[in-house]
Amino acid sequence: MRVMNDPSEPFSTTCPLFGQVALVTGASRGIGAGIARTLAKAGAAVAVNYLNNREQAIHVARECQSYGAKSLAVQADVTDLGAITRLVQETQLHLGPPSILVNNAGRARFGLFIDTDESMLAELLNANLKAPFFCAQAVLPGMLKAGYGRIINISSVWGIAGGSCEVAYSASKGGLIAFTKALAKEVGPSGITVNAVAPGAIETDMLTHLSSEDLKLLSQETPVGRLGTPADVAAVVLFLASPAASFMTGQILSPNGGLVI
Ligand code: NAP
Repeated sequence: MRVMNDPSEPFSTTCPLFGQVALVTGASRGIGAGIARTLAKAGAAVAVNYLNNREQAIHVARECQSYGAKSLAVQADVTDLGAITRLVQETQLHLGPPSILVNNAGRARFGLFIDTDESMLAELLNANLKAPFFCAQAVLPGMLKAGYGRIINISSVWGIAGGSCEVAYSASKGGLIAFTKALAKEVGPSGITVNAVAPGAIETDMLTHLSSEDLKLLSQETPVGRLGTPADVAAVVLFLASPAASFMTGQILSPNGGLVI
């Protein structure tokens, strides 16, 4: 694997991730699919993880291949530690050890705090905090060996600002930000950066609980006057994943159209 870790090395703007291996969790649709496509276009081999939507994940992997990248779809429930081990092993076997991990898979629940029960809290903490924690732990030995790595955690604006009726979700995404900062300090000396991306409202299946009137209001509340797209988030992930971002660690970048400033 060719990895450029020296900022003085020439930087290819067409294929900045050439020779690298990216593992993107929850990449069968939505933001994760957008990230997988963008990293593949930038030259990385991409493992497209999914939970249930096999056909969609295979389709995303084929799209990645159409850009000339190696890619495969891998089923794994990232809240299950055994499944995480298998996911990393399969990625390593077919593509090589991941030099980029994007912890994107996540879940959201909408409702009053007073109605949030133990199982709902556990579901969100498992998907949004435990899974990124142990996915990072599983890829780190390879990154430590290479002396290089990029870990990117997909948080949310609500992890920064807090969202009404999304208290458990906000707590899980805020925890992910604290995890990002702490791990960045621990592994920075080993050539590994850890950053978070905290998107605003992005048009994906995750927003289907909102009515068209709610979505219109959300667009109007967003200073740039529209909802975001997976490509808006993927552009930020691409920068953080690139060798050029070697001086960025422990940071939270928020593509949110100005919703939270
Ligand atoms: P989405 O459209 O609901 O897609 C979720 C993805 O995660 C799917 O690929 C799903 O796989 C996968 N997934 C869910 N649970 C999983 C598990 N336990 N193991 C493996 N994969 C799992 O979500 P999205 O809107 O793209 O959101 C992606 C990330 O961005 C999430 O972390 C979310 O919290 C964050 N985010 C989203 C927004 C937004 O407005 N959309 C805003 C801020 C942050 P299957 O297809 O197989 O079910």
